Amino acid sequence: MVQVNNNYSKLPGNYLFSEVARKKQAYLEAHPTAQLINMGIGDVTRPLFPAVIAAMQQAVDEMGQASSFRGYAPEQGYDFLRQLIAECDFQARGADISADEIFVSDGAKSDCANIGDIFALDNIVAVCDPVYPVYVDSNAMSGRAGEYQDGRWSKLVYLPCTKDNAFIPQLPQQPVDLIYLCFPNNPTGATATAAQLQQWVDYANAQGAVLLFDAAYEAFIRTPGLPHSIYEIEGAKTCAIEFRSFSKTAGFTGTRCAYTVVPKDLVVQGQSLRDMWYRRQCTKFNGVSYIVQRGAAAVYSAAGQQQLEETISYYMNNAAGIRKILQQAGLSICGGVDSPYIWLALPDGLSSWQAFDLLLQEAQVVTTPGSGFGSCGEGYLRMTAFGEPDSSLRAAEKIAAALR
Ligand code: PLP
Repeated sequence: MVQVNNNYSKLPGNYLFSEVARKKQAYLEAHPTAQLINMGIGDVTRPLFPAVIAAMQQAVDEMGQASSFRGYAPEQGYDFLRQLIAECDFQARGADISADEIFVSDGAKSDCANIGDIFALDNIVAVCDPVYPVYVDSNAMSGRAGEYQDGRWSKLVYLPCTKDNAFIPQLPQQPVDLIYLCFPNNPTGATATAAQLQQWVDYANAQGAVLLFDAAYEAFIRTPGLPHSIYEIEGAKTCAIEFRSFSKTAGFTGTRCAYTVVPKDLVVQGQSLRDMWYRRQCTKFNGVSYIVQRGAAAVYSAAGQQQLEETISYYMNNAAGIRKILQQAGLSICGGVDSPYIWLALPDGLSSWQAFDLLLQEAQVVTTPGSGFGSCGEGYLRMTAFGEPDSSLRAAEKIAAALR
C-alpha cells in the first residue's frame, strides 16, 4: 500500500502567516467596518516599473508573431538575463561571477527550499533563530530536521540572534554542514558587515561547510560599504550558494522571477554543486516565461534602475518614519535602515502573540509575532515598511500609543 511522507505529519500547527490571516479575518468578521492597516506579511505594494511593463508588453507582441514566438525557455534562464545579472549584480561590485553560474527561477522561496535536493539527508543544518520559516520547514519535510519537540527540531542547530549579539549570529559551537544565512535579515532587519561575513566564509571553508546565503533584500541596503553579495567576500566562491529575487527589489512578488548563484569553484566530495543544480533544474524545472525574463532584464536598463531607486526610496522613507516614531516613544528596535523590516522589542512581560492581539484589537494594526520565526523571536514583533506612507506612519503612532 502507498505510504505518505511522514515528515509532513511532524510539522507543527499552522504556518505562521496562515494563523495571522485567520486572526485578521476573524477580527474583520466581528468588526465589518474596521479599517485594518497591514504591517504583517512582507508583500510589496508599488506597481511594476514602467520600464518593466514596456519590456513585457513588447515580449507579449513577440510571442504573438510566428517569427519571434518562443516555446520552452532554457531551464537555467535566457542568456540575455543571465549576462545582465552577472555584469550588473556581481561584476560591477567586484564579485567575479559569470553568467553560467546563474540559474534564473520563479522564486527564491522555492530555490532555498529545493536546494536541499543536492545535499545528503544526514547533513547537519544550522539556521538562525529567529528565521525565515521556509529554511526550517523544507528541511523538516525532507527529513533532515529530526523531531519537533518544545518548539525546536532535534537535528537542527539553532544560532540565536538576540539583542546581545545585535542580531548577528555567532559561529556554531558544534560541527555543522549547511548554514542558512539571510542578510539583510528577514525578520530582524539586521545587516551583516563584510568583516562579519568574512568570519562565516572562513569558517565554512575551514570546516567544509556550505553557506546558503539569502540576499533577497540586498536592494534595500542604503549604507555605503555594506556587502550586497556573499561573493564580495574573499573565499566565498568555494563555500557559498546565493539566492536573489526580483520580488522585493522590483515588485515581482506576483510576477515571479528570481535566481540562484552556484559558483563553478564550489566542489564537494569531488562533485560540482553547480553541475548538480544544473541537472536538478533541467529535470524538475521548465524555466521562467520569456515575458517575465524580459521584464526582469528591463530592471537593469537606465530607466529601470532609476525606477528601482525611486521605489526602494519610497519604502525606506516609510521605514525611517516608522523608526522615528517608535524610537521617540522609547521603544527599542532593530532594522529599517538597510532593510524593509523593523524588529520591535516589546515592553517587559508582553509575549509576541499577546502584543499581536493587543495591536489588532486596540490599534487595528496587523503585525507579525516574532515568536512565529523561532523561540528567540519571543517578545518581538516584525513590522514591514511596504505600506502607504500615511497609513504606515499612522500605524506606527497607534502602535506607540498602545504599547506605551
Ligand atoms: N527569502 C526571504 C528571506 C524572504 O523573505 C522571501 C519572501 O518573503 C523570499 C526569500 C521569497 O522570495 P520569492 O518571492 O522570490 O520566492
